[in-house]
Amino acid sequence: MLLDVNIVQLAKFLNSAKRITVLTGAGLSVASGIPTFRETGGLWNNYRPEELATPQAFIRNPKLVWAWYASRREKVANSYPNNAHKVLAKWSKRFKGFSLITQNVDGLHERAGTVNVIRFHGSLWELKCWIPCSASPKHWKDKTVPFKRIPPCCPHCGGLARPGVVWFGESINPTVLKKSFEASRCDVFLTVGTSSVVNPAALLVSEAKSKGAYVAEINPKRTPASEIVDLSIKGTAEEILINLEKELLAQN
Ligand code: NAD
Ligand code: ZN
Repeated sequence: MLLDVNIVQLAKFLNSAKRITVLTGAGLSVASGIPTFRETGGLWNNYRPEELATPQAFIRNPKLVWAWYASRREKVANSYPNNAHKVLAKWSKRFKGFSLITQNVDGLHERAGTVNVIRFHGSLWELKCWIPCSASPKHWKDKTVPFKRIPPCCPHCGGLARPGVVWFGESINPTVLKKSFEASRCDVFLTVGTSSVVNPAALLVSEAKSKGAYVAEINPKRTPASEIVDLSIKGTAEEILINLEKELLAQN
């Protein structure tokens, strides 16, 4: 392997950091076969995510929205964590003071064995009551693939259930938001596989920077975050993280 000076430099920062925070986005799951929202191709390409992932879209056509989520659940159920998920899972157990914030809803970080994942946008594998009724918990786990009927019902009141994800225009769970902003106070902040255009997740990068963290980005393309980070490494998450892990171990 041609030793990339950027990887060597980043590994040094990581090995000497007391607190490390990693923010991940849809790019991390591309090597697992999960498309990002902005990629072309596929059955749902006629719709923009903003036309499906909103409360308004759900009110208009819950069956359509659920058909989209059901197809995403099916896709993920037939996929596996890739090397990028696996490296981060190792870090979550090896580094003290490690936090992983993900915008992904696919659960692949958890399946790779990552501990204490902060799920910024919820999970494809959780459902909530749409109303919500007083009998239902805030959300519940549901791994059914495929659903017997679409849209699925709330088992507590028989009304409509909805995906346990954060839609465009909805607020982030305050506890999750607090934990994420707390985690942005760290020595090294790494943003991986995210386009950095969806707020407030994207704000975490500038927040970390303003609190004094060394901030690095891993992405094959430039993003708005590229302007403010200390180091921008052009490449895929699965390739760069594996090389970074090799370098981390070699330095120890
Ligand atoms: P995004 O689609 O806006 O951006 C994806 C980013 O990944 C791009 O910048 C792209 O250049 C980069 N990328 C592509 N292939 C990559 C690779 N192999 N390695 C590293 N980077 C790669 O996704 P986002 O920034 O996460 O934000 C959009 C929203 O989409 C989030 O709210 C998220 O909940 C949702 N989403 C989640 C999933 C998932 O759970 N897997 C999939 C699609 C969308
Ligand atoms: Zn209910």
